[in-house]
Amino acid sequence: MKYALVDGIKQEPFPNQKGICCLCGSPTSSKCGNSKVWHWAHKSLRKCDPWWENETAWHRLWKSYFNKDNQEVIHFDENTGEKHIADIKTNNGMVIEIQNSPINEDELRSRENFYGNMIWIINGEKFKNNFHISEKLPRPNLNFFEDIIFHPGGITYHKESDDPKYYEDIKSAKRYFHMIEAHFMSDIKEEIENNYIGHHLFDCKHKRGAWFNATKPVFIDFGDNHLWLLEKYYKEEYKSLWSVQKISKDELILKNGGGINKNR
Ligand SMILES: [Zn+2]
Repeated sequence: MKYALVDGIKQEPFPNQKGICCLCGSPTSSKCGNSKVWHWAHKSLRKCDPWWENETAWHRLWKSYFNKDNQEVIHFDENTGEKHIADIKTNNGMVIEIQNSPINEDELRSRENFYGNMIWIINGEKFKNNFHISEKLPRPNLNFFEDIIFHPGGITYHKESDDPKYYEDIKSAKRYFHMIEAHFMSDIKEEIENNYIGHHLFDCKHKRGAWFNATKPVFIDFGDNHLWLLEKYYKEEYKSLWSVQKISKDELILKNGGGINKNR
């Protein structure tokens, strides 16, 4: 952890210090070596918060955008007595969970239920070579694109046909299939560009990971100035397509009460 209580005050670790865990109240000591980020460790090996993951420089960078009071904030459920340390909790009460390692679906669900008002920031560093962001998409649910279905490959799209001739052809052939026409994405490039607010198609190896079942917003951090919001592009159940939306990292931080120049 980045913080422990020293003489009752929330403090960062410095060499050879003793502290008290802010969450469980047991003794901690400072670990200020070279291999890991400086942190506080419990003296006994018991883990006080099962949701806690070992911190990396990436966690610390994220925390550093926010005030000390907004970092490692204890979130307490009065009804169940359950308590956990939220990585960041904004003044508006929203929790920002900074997640470096993969998560299983049970824990994902528990954390979402526990915090309620929250977003995820996940570290995309490890999978960035298997995650390919491609074509632009228009903002969802526009009338112009109502009968258009985009596909993950991004080269063609399908349009439900209203061409009478097309219907006749189908009738005479006595075939029954979806009345669709294939078109090239490049044909509607201008319309897409005019309605672009950051959405893109993407391809990745595992589209079944826990993050695809999150009910709270998931922002992927690939280490540059942007975040990519993972979301279902179509809200209708019968259309299935995932997209990512490019979001300014600075904007998200500022909007939530952080500061952009603190440690970058
Ligand atoms: Zn503890």
